[in-house]
Amino acid sequence: MSGPGADNRPVVCCDLDGVVWRGETPIEGAAAGVEQLRGAGLRVAFLTNNSSGRVRDNLERLAAAGVTASPDDLVTSAQAAAALLAAEYPSGRAAPDTRVLACAGPGVVEALLGHGFEPVESSTSELPATAVVVGWHRTFDFERLRRAADGVRSGARFVATNLDPTYPGTDGLLPGAGALVAAVATAGGRRPEVAGKPEPAMAALVRARYENPVVMIGDRPSTDGAFAVALGVPFALVLSGVAGTAGEEPVPDPPPAFVARDLGELAPKLAGAFGRASQ
Ligand SMILES: [Mg+2]
Repeated sequence: MSGPGADNRPVVCCDLDGVVWRGETPIEGAAAGVEQLRGAGLRVAFLTNNSSGRVRDNLERLAAAGVTASPDDLVTSAQAAAALLAAEYPSGRAAPDTRVLACAGPGVVEALLGHGFEPVESSTSELPATAVVVGWHRTFDFERLRRAADGVRSGARFVATNLDPTYPGTDGLLPGAGALVAAVATAGGRRPEVAGKPEPAMAALVRARYENPVVMIGDRPSTDGAFAVALGVPFALVLSGVAGTAGEEPVPDPPPAFVARDLGELAPKLAGAFGRASQ
């Protein structure tokens, strides 16, 4: 992964769920919007609180939506959670045999492996986990809840990838990671540290990766809007996800710096404000 200095283009930070796709369905005009931003000399970085998919799963979904991207263009809450845990180690890599209970999808497992952790599905007093990471996954059930809560209760560090209560599916809102985390926190008797947007771990990862973020695009004011504040950049709200049309979150009053129906409508505004012609 490239650090700051490798690429000094202004970076448009762009959420995925509710901006580029809803569930399995690409949002019309999103791919053309990304192209327009790139054509204006801007780099587009995709920042997602969805921790379930591996990097290549996300890149394949982007490709299916008509957007080419490389691993350097993607930051996930799974990576933020693993980086938060790895920050304990001076080298950024865990000591050998450091077990982390992953109550989460393959994206979290991949990110933990990337920092040298050993992802496990359960812990015992003989083989305790040093941390429990909870993220969105469809196979969450009573047994996984029991094992995660046991780990939390026995003193493991408790990290949530994110607390989004829902996320936009193709036909409506689906329960989000926050709903799963709430179950583990209730049964485990402790509140988690949170890694994803709008929390500092994700902001630290974005700052480490990109030199010059200029705007944050998202569909959820409570996470994406707050994350824009954390990054110190303006918020660009699209109404193709949970705010506005779906009505779960109101459009803030006063409204953010940019508001558009979708990324296709937003892109020319951002290209004009931050693109080559505006320099
Ligand atoms: Mg979203």
